[in-house]
Amino acid sequence: MKNSVVIVGGGTAGWLTAGIIAARHYSKNSPTQKTEIILVESPDVKNLGVGEGTWPTMRDTLRQIGLSEREFISCCDGSFKQASKFIGWSEGQGEHYYHPFTAPSGYGSVSMAEHWSATNKESDFESWVCAQGIICEKNLAPKLPQMPEYAFSLNYGYHLNAGKFVKMLHQHCVEKLGVKYIQGHVEQVLSAENDDISGIVLSNGHHITGDLFIDCSGFSAILIGKHYQIPFESKQNILFNDTALAVQVEHATNEVPIASCTVATAQKSGWVWDIALPNRRGIGHVFSSDFTSVEQAEEALFSYIKHDPLLASQQITPRIIKFNPGHRSTFWHKNCVAIGVSAGFVEPLEATALVLIEKSAEWLSQQLPKDRKAMTVLAKRFNNLTLQRWHEIIDFLKLHYVLTNRTDSEYWRTHQQVESIPESLQEALELWRTQAPGVYETNQRFELFSSASKQYVLYGMGFMTEPMSLNQKEVSLIKRIRNETLHNTEKLLSGLPTNRQFLSRILHK
Ligand SMILES: Cc1cc2nc3c(=O)[nH]c(=O)nc-3n(C[C@H](O)[C@H](O)[C@H](O)COP(=O)(O)OP(=O)(O)OC[C@H]3O[C@@H](n4cnc5c(N)ncnc54)[C@H](O)[C@@H]3O)c2cc1C
Repeated sequence: MKNSVVIVGGGTAGWLTAGIIAARHYSKNSPTQKTEIILVESPDVKNLGVGEGTWPTMRDTLRQIGLSEREFISCCDGSFKQASKFIGWSEGQGEHYYHPFTAPSGYGSVSMAEHWSATNKESDFESWVCAQGIICEKNLAPKLPQMPEYAFSLNYGYHLNAGKFVKMLHQHCVEKLGVKYIQGHVEQVLSAENDDISGIVLSNGHHITGDLFIDCSGFSAILIGKHYQIPFESKQNILFNDTALAVQVEHATNEVPIASCTVATAQKSGWVWDIALPNRRGIGHVFSSDFTSVEQAEEALFSYIKHDPLLASQQITPRIIKFNPGHRSTFWHKNCVAIGVSAGFVEPLEATALVLIEKSAEWLSQQLPKDRKAMTVLAKRFNNLTLQRWHEIIDFLKLHYVLTNRTDSEYWRTHQQVESIPESLQEALELWRTQAPGVYETNQRFELFSSASKQYVLYGMGFMTEPMSLNQKEVSLIKRIRNETLHNTEKLLSGLPTNRQFLSRILHK
């Protein structure tokens, strides 16, 4: 069967999905075998244009679709992201912890987490087991300039300009990967006898047929929602945030340091994200409209910006984005798969949206159905896996809230109420009191968050696992690993350039 894949939507989800599938299935030199990929985008519905923090997975995605790192960084005002820094989540007093992309030293061979609990805690968990938080404090790059593209000293993802990212992907997919682009607003969906989608009709009357339809139409969810009426499961009872105020603010000068991490600063009824690019910062307040008003949230955002001397003073008008946190009950129905915001969206804490797009598109690309029967089986598997991933995301994001000691607002107090905590997370927390999350925690092949990530958040928030009693052999092993971490940290501190130095070299080449 000649596969023809129709993607509806030209936001980040649409173009990443097109690129990932095309990189595997489009062959310029063998037109008879090729999978035809068509992307349809409405001229009337703007894409989200936010989503500026990625995971390290993006390095593989870019490489796989054939983009050079230099091209990506210069086209998209890219910078490096090595971690998330959480400020004020535990006490609301300006304290912080890091969730870095590099796993703790000894991860997989020895549980440093339990040993850390058993020591006299000479330092916080993250800097006891990892160099990355200290590197981020100094705004250093994760690699040396002479290293090959995508290689690293410390694991990293990116910060990027979302609008420019979409433009770059669009151009690359069309010019290099054979994706056919059609501008048009999908107005009608045509059904086959078996209830599959047989085609879509654009507002200019143009018909497009296909074998597989991918809904990347964002909040419109034109195929999975409007056409198939697949229920949306709201998770607002767990993750309360439902509104974002987003702004872009210039640096005070073009010399100011570029942070190497996303900074997430807790507020009374939500949190503020702060993402530094070479030329500006993207800042926004995500909050719950059940606990505060837009005016109060704006005030908190302006106060955050006003008190930062590294930002230029300027008139800014936040853009308001409302969302219902949650996901579809099914993601692949008949011959239609939803990827991106059409499938679901929750607050951008830990930047889980783009990684889920990458992982979903990669799975689909690897397992693109060869016939209609295969599609039914694959749909079932995709649905199970994606639902499991959503549960994982929801539990992990909620973990950031439940361990707080903050009682200064109704928002934080309600987050700690047991009724708002999924049972799966309650169970896990019970277990983690006696043993640290370890490599046996989940089916690692498809997990999104490793146990390392869980350890960083748990111990960063002050959670306690019962200390292990250590024998002499373990004591010396830990001492050795600890010395290696210290040595590695010193070496990186003295060798790595700053983010700005590294990026300037790329941008001025
Ligand atoms: C405030 C905020 C901050 C975020 N931060 C992050 C982050 O740091 N990291 C991260 O990973 N993610 C983040 N996200 C999520 C990220 O922005 C999205 O996952 C990403 O932009 C993908 O969106 P999309 O392509 O699914 O939808 P959209 O960008 O909305 O694109 C939808 C597309 O569908 C098209 N369309 C709609 N209706 C029709 C129709 N009838 N016919 C034809 N075409 C149609 C539109 O024209 C558009 O091209 C954030 C989201 C928000 C709201």
